[in-house]
This record gives sequence, C-alpha cells and structure tokens, in this order.
Amino acid sequence: MNLEKIEHIGIAVKNLREAEEKFTELFQATPYKREVVESEGVETSFYRIGESKIELLAAINEQSPITKFIEKRGEGIHHMAFDVKNIYQEMERMQERGFQLISPEPKRGADNKLVCFLHPRSANGVLVELCQEIKD
Ligand code: ZN
Repeated sequence: MNLEKIEHIGIAVKNLREAEEKFTELFQATPYKREVVESEGVETSFYRIGESKIELLAAINEQSPITKFIEKRGEGIHHMAFDVKNIYQEMERMQERGFQLISPEPKRGADNKLVCFLHPRSANGVLVELCQEIKD
C-alpha cells in the first residue's frame, strides 16, 4: 500500500474561533493544536478523532486559497489527506500516472508534515493532499 491511511480531512471555515466552538461540541473534544501556515495563508486547528484528524482551515488574508475556495464553493470539506511513507516516491509515481501535482516539490505544511497537493482536476474534483511526517 502506498497510501497508508486517511491522515486528516480539511474543512474550510470562515471564522476559526466560531467553527472551533461548533466542532468542539460535535466531537466532544478540543483541538490539540492551532497553527498558522503563513506560506499557505491559513490558520489551522486540529482535532484528533481516533486514528484520523480533522483540520479546520481559515484564511488569514485575501490571497489565501481558502478565501478563493469559500467564495467559489462556500464552507465545507476542502481536502482529504493521505499519509505516505515516502512523499517523493509517491509524487513521482503519481506524475508518471498522469496526475497533476500543484507544486513540483513538497512544502512544509501544518502539523509537522511535508505536504503536496494533487490538482482536483486529476481526481474528480477532490483536492488530495499527500503528507509525510517530518522526523527531526
Ligand atoms: Zn491538510
């Protein structure tokens, strides 16, 4: 298996604090971390649900991909992230099979991960994230 498991599901929200209140009620759990990822223009908040996580994403500026996503499609599920052991190998494999990567190199994402996105055009409208834990 190349994709180990669903690592997390990303949900685009307008207001992170308000969304946190709601999801804290829904999950009966509080977020274990909040993190701003400047390079992506987002503030994130993470919940652990068993083996998987839920990532809330809110824009921190107008240029943020989340701003554009919400304008176009409203709040809701934004991406699905899969855990991989070797992100470089997976990126190469996917490219060979005709999937379109959003960036040619992995980036440092939230929650101590190397991440790479596949264009939703490549996967029936689903924004797929590959992520590999950074082991320091
Ligand atoms: Zn994510």
